[in-house]
Amino acid sequence: MEQTDIVIVGAGVVGLAVAAELSSKFTDKSIVLVERHNKFGQETSSRNSEVVHAGIYYPSNSLKAKLCVDGNKRLYQFCKKWGIPHNRLGKLIIARSEEEIPILESILKKGLDSGVTDLELLDADQVIKLEPNVKAVAAILSPSTGIIDSHSLMSRLEWLARQQDTMCAYNHEVTTVEYAGNGNGYTLTYRGPDGQIDKILCKWLINCSGLGADKIPYWLGMDIDKASYRIYPCKGEYFGVSNTKSGMVSRLIYPPPLKELKGLGIHATKTLDGRLRFGPSAFYIDTLDYSVDEGHAIEFYNSINTYLPFINFADLRPDMSGIRPKIQRPGAPVQDFVVRHEAASGFEGLINLIGIESPGLTASLSLARMVGDLVGNDRHHN
Ligand SMILES: Cc1cc2nc3c(=O)[nH]c(=O)nc-3n(C[C@H](O)[C@H](O)[C@H](O)COP(=O)(O)OP(=O)(O)OC[C@H]3O[C@@H](n4cnc5c(N)ncnc54)[C@H](O)[C@@H]3O)c2cc1C
Repeated sequence: MEQTDIVIVGAGVVGLAVAAELSSKFTDKSIVLVERHNKFGQETSSRNSEVVHAGIYYPSNSLKAKLCVDGNKRLYQFCKKWGIPHNRLGKLIIARSEEEIPILESILKKGLDSGVTDLELLDADQVIKLEPNVKAVAAILSPSTGIIDSHSLMSRLEWLARQQDTMCAYNHEVTTVEYAGNGNGYTLTYRGPDGQIDKILCKWLINCSGLGADKIPYWLGMDIDKASYRIYPCKGEYFGVSNTKSGMVSRLIYPPPLKELKGLGIHATKTLDGRLRFGPSAFYIDTLDYSVDEGHAIEFYNSINTYLPFINFADLRPDMSGIRPKIQRPGAPVQDFVVRHEAASGFEGLINLIGIESPGLTASLSLARMVGDLVGNDRHHN
């Protein structure tokens, strides 16, 4: 049976960032990154808004807030260092009526509590000066929100990991995991590229498997409901508009977020090539499917029309969708990221990253740093 020190499951942006971090920090350890698709980033990491968030919305002591604020800075530094295409174009969170102004005030406070110090509250005139085509009575300006080319980011992370001797095993799907107990490691069974079943033994198992992240704890016999690790997939669809209308806003425009932060509300995002897109919506699903239902255009139109009156119903075209790996049950309060060394539950060397929904792309480098610390701080197991 093959053996290695560390196996990372999942080559999305988080698994890749973890691979780059661990391979630079622990040069004496052998690392294998296992991914079921034939290349990196085929799931949530390439189906999102590509926004570098500032960290405004989340409870201030949460990992989401801390890792987003820290991740925002790290990501811009990384972009600068490696020439990753990005645009720090800024964002407005708008109030569409006087009644929404208190929501902005509470968001502003949350942001400040989390260390986002560059936010500005704007009145209607100031909004019009920045964005003449947006209908709003007030807004929060977040100058450090931007957009990034997530493919280039992942490609650079993969390159860094490979340079530092990480082995990337694509077309390898983990089908079950067993624990030998007493810190004696994990045996992963996987299906390889030709359908062959094989096994690999590792001391550290880092679970970055996104929508599949509840499987590893389940295979190991953990009670995933008790631990709140069960994934409830929550879909988000996008609609686009023609290029002629794309130039009518130059920043990201967000209405106030949805109740219990199920999503950030159907907002206007820009792509690096200047296209205007709307979304993502948020609804729970039973089966994973990335189609976009044209029939949902009316829901988009009704929402967008409240702040971008220049968009007509006929302008909207189905674009793409992504699926959030939520651990927040339908109707339940918002949940934080899980980033946990499971030694206390009897699984030494298992680090679970579960519920890594938004702002996981922004937080990716900070999540990786945290995993590096969890591995480095474990004296008994290294
Ligand atoms: C609609 C939407 C919009 C978003 N917008 C933003 C945004 O603007 N900004 C932001 O910061 N974040 C955003 N996010 C969140 C962000 O996209 C995710 O947090 C991030 O991509 C998660 O990366 P990941 O590596 O954890 O997961 P993934 O990209 O899903 O990667 C997990 C990988 O694990 C692999 N895998 C799973 N099970 C197995 C197995 N058994 N064996 C082998 N491989 C396996 C999968 O194939 C997959 O490649 C958004 C998310 C959604 C859904």
